[in-house]
Amino acid sequence: MFVYADHAATTKMRPAALKAYTDAAEAVYGNPSSLHSSGQRAKELLTSCRERIAACLGADAREIFFTSGGSESDNQAIRSAAYAGLKKGKTKLVSTAIEHHAVLHTLEKLQKEGFEVVLLPVTAEGIVRVEDVEGAIDEKTALVSVMLANNEIGTIQPVSEIGKICRARGVLFHTDAVQAVGHIPVDVKEIGCDYLALSAHKFCGPKGVGALYVRRGAPIFPLIEGGAQESGKRAGTEDVPAIAGMATALEASVADMGATSALLKRLQDKLIDGLLRIPHCALNGDRNRRLPSNTSFCFEGIEGESLLLLLDDMGICASSGSACTSGSLDPSHVLLAIGRVHDVAHGSLRISLGEENTEADVDYLLQCIPEVVSHLRNMSPVWRDLLAGKRQFIL
Ligand SMILES: *Cc1c(COP(=O)(O)O)cnc(C)c1O
Repeated sequence: MFVYADHAATTKMRPAALKAYTDAAEAVYGNPSSLHSSGQRAKELLTSCRERIAACLGADAREIFFTSGGSESDNQAIRSAAYAGLKKGKTKLVSTAIEHHAVLHTLEKLQKEGFEVVLLPVTAEGIVRVEDVEGAIDEKTALVSVMLANNEIGTIQPVSEIGKICRARGVLFHTDAVQAVGHIPVDVKEIGCDYLALSAHKFCGPKGVGALYVRRGAPIFPLIEGGAQESGKRAGTEDVPAIAGMATALEASVADMGATSALLKRLQDKLIDGLLRIPHCALNGDRNRRLPSNTSFCFEGIEGESLLLLLDDMGICASSGSACTSGSLDPSHVLLAIGRVHDVAHGSLRISLGEENTEADVDYLLQCIPEVVSHLRNMSPVWRDLLAGKRQFIL
């Protein structure tokens, strides 16, 4: 059996998106900046994709800028707000300890450039407190950046409340919505954000393409200089086929959202209830305020890496934390932020399901994971010490 359960890392393109992609690559290959008919056809397709994507987000087409994906969108939003703030003497950037590295590393760079960066803690359930955000804002604050849904533990952040506060205090607000767009309802007006990042490959679109929503009037500077594409805010010939694939994937994801999330919620409940029967194991993040696709667990006494490799041998693709931190020995910053100690954080497993997963897939996961966990525990010196009482159980 083969079960792909790593949709938070990336997804398989849906057939309609793949078709839109290949159709455009075959037939609409002109450069949208060219004045001849082939270029104009590409430009028309680009314009309609911008309108379709805007419509899915409750935005205006002029507020959508195409980028190479979530990382670029996060980088551009944060740097634009930071440099605009600097011009007004605002040098403080407020974010959270559980952001994606595209946000955290950009903030680290800006800190080295002289900005003050405040990373707010989260609760043990993996949710930032609105009052902490409010308390961190002062007259020096240029930007608040809080993700909509976390990529490792799936928790959903109170972005609409944060948006209201930022608006009232005159502070720019960016939300990394890469895990949320196409999965749960996302409306830029309701969130009240100035910037919102999305990435096509997280909602069954192509890789290497995404978008940044920029509210009309919010500052936006290019990261990449060159031609006048994207109203001069992002140079480089547009990847029209990828953008067409993204627009189709997003429309289809939004259209199917009700049915998909009902299915995923059912599978998620079954998976959580089943895996929590394993002793000394815990769910990471709030049980209810989470994406329907995401579950993350810690198993005491084992290494997440070994768990992943054995599961892979059984045809199961999962992840220990985020795809971006795997390969490094540091425990996940997100798991540390929700209070997991190093040893426990090392024994993590993220299962992120998608609409093509079935009940039979979950049954297979529920058969294999307990088996592999107990196999690894039987070989683990740490587990032996725990059983012998030489170490205290934490979970
Ligand atoms: C995947 C992801 C990103 C990065 O998106 P890319 O398109 O892979 O660059 C940023 N933020 C979050 C929350 C993500 O899950």
